[in-house]
Amino acid sequence: MTYNIAIDGPAGAGKSTIARRVAKELSFIYVDTGAMYRTIALSLLRCGIDAKDEARVSEALPGIQVSIAYRDGEQQMLLNGENVSGLIRTEEVGNMASKAAALPCVREKLLDLQKELARTHDVVMDGRDIGTNILPDAQLKIYLTASADTRAERRFRELEAKGISCSLEEIREDIIMRDEQDMHREIAPLMQAEDAVFLDSSDMSVDEVTEKIKSLCRWEKK
Ligand code: C5P
Repeated sequence: MTYNIAIDGPAGAGKSTIARRVAKELSFIYVDTGAMYRTIALSLLRCGIDAKDEARVSEALPGIQVSIAYRDGEQQMLLNGENVSGLIRTEEVGNMASKAAALPCVREKLLDLQKELARTHDVVMDGRDIGTNILPDAQLKIYLTASADTRAERRFRELEAKGISCSLEEIREDIIMRDEQDMHREIAPLMQAEDAVFLDSSDMSVDEVTEKIKSLCRWEKK
């Protein structure tokens, strides 16, 4: 049986940084499910499809092949075989992902891929509905959050470091809008699973959050 750690939380809470670190230290694989939604979003943007037009999105989905590969331990997103990992990190793609992720047909498409990865590997999987929906039996569930200001600043620094120009105020507004969308959608809304451990990382360093999660983990190396 595999060991699964689910990390959910709002945009910019530091999930991917933490999940990547924990996975590396435990020799698990890190699965970034947001990147999967972003990949579909990129494809929809390229085709000029409005995420509100559910019929058109549903029609387009069979032609959108999402798969993952690992390069130097890093998850790579493939869209119909094209590596789009470097193209999916913009706010435009993130906002489109949040809209598309509210559609049942989009979520359905990614369900099997996510479940299968967790069934066949020890994973740290991050997203919005991992503990509540995708991996209800995960051995450890974390709900990771931070204040909106902290999250906006972190995302701002992250994008700046990647050379993507942005404004802190716009990012803050985007984050709040995205939380709204993700928490209030009908299907698989972002919420803390009953058995998840709540962690507010506003005043915690990456090291502290990583150590805390590792200390909660009951996994032992075989
Ligand atoms: O985590 P990230 O910001 O990359 O996710 C982009 C969007 O994908 C989120 O705003 C959310 O709407 C959606 N998402 C989701 N379920 C997941 C992961 C991401 O709905 N498990």
